[in-house]
Amino acid sequence: MTDKNFDPATQIQDIQYFGEFGGVNPSITDSSTYTFLEAGRMEEIFEHEIEGCYLYSRHWNPSNKYLADALARMEGTEAAQVMGSGMGAITSVILQLCNAGDELIASRTIYGGTYAFLKNYLPKFNITVHFVDITNTDAVLEKLNDKTKLVYCEALSNPLLEVADLPALSKITKSKNIPLVVDNTFTPMVFSPIQLGADIVVHSLTKFINGTSDAVGGAVCASKAFIDSMMDVNSGSAMLLGPVLDSFRSASILKNLRSLHLRMIQHSKNAAYLANAMKEHGLKVKYPGHTEHPQHQLMSNTMNAKYGYSGLLLFDAETKAKAYEVMEEMQNSNVGYLAVSLGFYKTLFSAPGSSTSSEISDEEQVQMGLSDGFIRMSVGLDMDIERTTEKILNACKKVGLIN
Ligand code: PLP
Repeated sequence: MTDKNFDPATQIQDIQYFGEFGGVNPSITDSSTYTFLEAGRMEEIFEHEIEGCYLYSRHWNPSNKYLADALARMEGTEAAQVMGSGMGAITSVILQLCNAGDELIASRTIYGGTYAFLKNYLPKFNITVHFVDITNTDAVLEKLNDKTKLVYCEALSNPLLEVADLPALSKITKSKNIPLVVDNTFTPMVFSPIQLGADIVVHSLTKFINGTSDAVGGAVCASKAFIDSMMDVNSGSAMLLGPVLDSFRSASILKNLRSLHLRMIQHSKNAAYLANAMKEHGLKVKYPGHTEHPQHQLMSNTMNAKYGYSGLLLFDAETKAKAYEVMEEMQNSNVGYLAVSLGFYKTLFSAPGSSTSSEISDEEQVQMGLSDGFIRMSVGLDMDIERTTEKILNACKKVGLIN
């Protein structure tokens, strides 16, 4: 059921914790296994879940449950599970949904690791993946058939910043009774995919949600039935492949989650300022907050407006050599770091064609419009974005990108 007034930050704000000894933060679980006072009770928990009763930390532990419940609240799902990485979440969902001989439809512009898994790994299981231009819903319809088990996309894609039309895609998936799986890593709070018709939301917690670039984690937010199926001791992908998140990391990510709304607002505000300044100076920028972005109107109509257009932008340095030169110059002037990943307090920049999307062949990169001169920037939380922007423009001048 969708709710027009749904606000992810309020969902998190309304959670109330009383730790084991009344602490305002839940106690951290430092145990991999749990005791039973009666042997029969252990047998029971193998057969079905018993609320509040834990068996073994790869299955569930209280710290992971606290974080999972908070993420379920944020995305408006019945349940969630946290994982050791975003890839752990994505691969577990897909392997839970598909059997040998099945097919799935995926956006062709997605994180390089996900792309590589779909393209190079799934054929081992005789699972066929159709990559499509997700902004063209007819292309999705064309590949849909009785073997299709899911449609997969990123709400705002890595690295091309394409926006998926989730309401239109969900109409298609609902007509076939298959799930729409959405990676919301680039747009936590900004998009609430479930409210737009998605069925399963995956996250790399490593990015904005944790926000401190000190931990790797992932999450799946979905119906209770789906999460239970992934955690089934006999047949669950997450239970059996074992991408469990460490409970200390769960506890630290939960604490960072509470400031996510403020960070997203600041990341978005800074990215908008920088994107506008770059555009004014004649740099070729791709940023979904600009009216000329092909899905600007779609994003404006479907996002939670108060969190802005997220903290990412792409700009075209025209050649790989120029991209490398300007990134080194920006790092030397302490604008941020030449590093992959995103959502950090400092600006991070990398050339996706030769890094996070290098799993995609050169030919396919050309087809999807990914130039090797592109630089992806995850704009930081800088208080004085005017000063940072000045430094970035100076770096661009120094390498001859602008006069
Ligand atoms: N999804 C997106 C959109 C990403 O950008 C990434 C990593 O860059 C992942 C998933 C994978 O996440 P992790 O590195 O936590 O496994």
